[in-house]
Amino acid sequence: MISMAKPQIGEEEKKAVLEVLDSGIIAQGPRVKAFEEAFAEMCGTRFAIATTSGTTALNVALLANGIGPGDEVITSAFTFIASANSILYTGAKPVFVDIDARTYNLDPQKIKAAITPRTKAIMPVHLYGLMCDMDPIMAIAKEHDLVVIEDACQSHGAEYKGAKAGTFGMGAFSLYPTKNITSGEGGMITTDDPVVDEKCRVIRQHGMRRRYYHDELGYNFRMTDVHAAIGLEQLKKLGKFNQVRRSNAAFLSKNLKGVVSPLEPEGNVHVYHQYTVRVPDGRREELKSFLQEQGIGSEVYYPVPIHQQSFYVADYGYDVQLPETEQAAQEVLSLPVHPGLTQDDLDRIVATVNEWAE
Ligand SMILES: *Cc1c(COP(=O)(O)O)cnc(C)c1O
Repeated sequence: MISMAKPQIGEEEKKAVLEVLDSGIIAQGPRVKAFEEAFAEMCGTRFAIATTSGTTALNVALLANGIGPGDEVITSAFTFIASANSILYTGAKPVFVDIDARTYNLDPQKIKAAITPRTKAIMPVHLYGLMCDMDPIMAIAKEHDLVVIEDACQSHGAEYKGAKAGTFGMGAFSLYPTKNITSGEGGMITTDDPVVDEKCRVIRQHGMRRRYYHDELGYNFRMTDVHAAIGLEQLKKLGKFNQVRRSNAAFLSKNLKGVVSPLEPEGNVHVYHQYTVRVPDGRREELKSFLQEQGIGSEVYYPVPIHQQSFYVADYGYDVQLPETEQAAQEVLSLPVHPGLTQDDLDRIVATVNEWAE
């Protein structure tokens, strides 16, 4: 079976974990600090703050900007549920804007119509490893004085016009095992703002600036040194992993027939967290089954847009139409692209899809 994801864990990660276990400092300690510094350097931001997951990274980034009940945050419904749930956790309301059919990312043209006096932030989601069209998004944010929190959980190292994901507003990254790099579970926030950086650290640690004096409601969202040790080793390999993902994607795009390959708009470096094709004419399930029969994994990210998830409808009363989002949810299929694939695997994927197409 050619799988959809395969965490690339080597001897370096194993050795680093054993060193932590021997060191006696297992919870948040020097490795977390080192991982934060290395991550900030990779992105090109002043600060990075480690958390327990991509979800908590998004949640803390929102809280650190004072977003809460009565506020609205504009985002995509064509994403993993954590993007919007992180907004709900704060008491604010996710406001969904439709996507651009070619990139699967927020369509900047449609953002303005969604802005109300309650809008406090925009959360662009860099889906599948491709960054959103950030120039117009940043211009709208500036004009309306909105915070930008990038959901960069799928786009470690991705670039837009020479700048990395997580450097436009604040960034939130996931380090879950299927992502471009992992720490087991984990998250990372990026920012250039020292006030926001400090605020994130306080929220992460039970609202505590001085030991056992608590000025506000915080959480335990601390990363452990065990996870940071894995993340540090993985981060050293990110460039290589992304290079292999990109060359795997290039091979697929060059050779696949009968499906619509992903777009890499000029000025972007796509890091192919997923290699996602569009299968027209209602034939997606047929291709998915055919691949399955031939021992090739594939997956639909995401079959149900967030505004149509049952509890968003039942408990929050969502009743909006997002035609491009809804059509994409019917047509997309992600194929294996991870750095563990062999040339033989890639050849098999191409041969199988093309056999189906004929
Ligand atoms: C993975 C992911 C998250 C959540 O990250 P976790 O580490 O699983 O909490 C949020 N948004 C997107 C787009 C993701 O892919």
